[in-house]
Amino acid sequence: MHSSITIVGASLAGVRAAEALRSEGFEGVIKLIGDEAHVPYDRPPLSKSFLEGAMTSERLSLLTKEKITELELQIRTGSKASKLDIDSQTFEIEGEVEGFDALVIATGARARKLPNTEKIKGIHTLRSLDDSIEIRDSFKSGNPKVVVVGGGFIGCEVAATASAFGIEVTIVESQDVPLSHVLGEEAGRVISKLHTDNGVQLKCGVEVQEFKGENQVEGVLLKDGTLLEADVVIVGIGATPNTEWLEDSGLTIENGVCCDQTCLAAPNIVAAGDVARWDHRGYGKSIRLEHWDNAAEQGKHAALRLLQKDSEALPYAPIPWFWSDQFDRKIQLAGISSPGDDFEVIVDSPEEGRYTAIYGNEGRLKAVLGINRPRHVMQFKSLMEEEASWKEALDFAKGIG
Ligand code: ADP
Repeated sequence: MHSSITIVGASLAGVRAAEALRSEGFEGVIKLIGDEAHVPYDRPPLSKSFLEGAMTSERLSLLTKEKITELELQIRTGSKASKLDIDSQTFEIEGEVEGFDALVIATGARARKLPNTEKIKGIHTLRSLDDSIEIRDSFKSGNPKVVVVGGGFIGCEVAATASAFGIEVTIVESQDVPLSHVLGEEAGRVISKLHTDNGVQLKCGVEVQEFKGENQVEGVLLKDGTLLEADVVIVGIGATPNTEWLEDSGLTIENGVCCDQTCLAAPNIVAAGDVARWDHRGYGKSIRLEHWDNAAEQGKHAALRLLQKDSEALPYAPIPWFWSDQFDRKIQLAGISSPGDDFEVIVDSPEEGRYTAIYGNEGRLKAVLGINRPRHVMQFKSLMEEEASWKEALDFAKGIG
């Protein structure tokens, strides 16, 4: 049994790892290390209620002082780990070499940036509490014109929040239909319409040529020649896993830390959350997810893996699930949809803002999308857990449509 477990990455996966170790009765030292100055906090509200100003930063906190004491955590914020070496079981932190008995890697991902945007004020990405505070402040100053680059979930959520403030906002999306890479074109159009009905402008099928403005952003020139005025730009074009500190560590890094089916990356080392790529037994391939629910669940699973013998370790094979709040809609997707999937709309009730659609492939139910239809999402998610066929899913849909 390990006498201490070090968790690098003090966000949701890291915190859930620490909690799981204590609830499983682990009595050794738990160190939780994070490079952000804040104590761990929850990120989903950063593009929604926190950005709106409807929530304080205290309410975002994932760990109160009492909880840190109760869990007996040695927590170190504002500290960046580097140079992991799996043979010597060491890494560097603040110029010192530190050893570990067992390690949870939960360093997450960071927002991708567009090149040459660092020096221009008013261009943001949204990942951290500080990002959200800056964007919120800029929404409140005057009546800014906002351009969101990237019509993924982050971009759509920020655009919805900005437009609820009465701000003029345009989404620039390189695909023809926002979210079509995740939801397919037909369902992507349903979300697009939600935005245009609420006054958001969409510029699709086009990319940014350059930003205008010397020190402060003034406009966004698109590749088709359109010039959009902008006082604030939010870039939401995806995330990159934080694996630089693991280069030359001996771990396999391929768009994430590669792990086996049980989240083990090397002896005594597991990974969890946005940084982890693992062999998902149910899908027969390795996947990496950036969902809140996965960070929480994988954080637990991976930490407990460190307490288990190889022979008793269980595979981690959940049905992925996430939600996105946009305007008054709760959009949820369970499973993984892919381009070319069979697609069937089960409910389409624009007046009530309700929509359910399912995705299938190779005779199997693969995913369900629900808009203000959480019960349907959970019902089809259960069917996926039972490995339902596409026909079984369609038959079930007849009863609820
Ligand atoms: P996020 O978590 O940031 O929302 P996603 O990967 O879900 O990330 O969505 C990012 C979106 O940004 C995708 O719809 C993608 O097509 C779009 N995108 C990527 N690069 C560009 C770009 N240079 N200009 C406009 N849109 C982009």
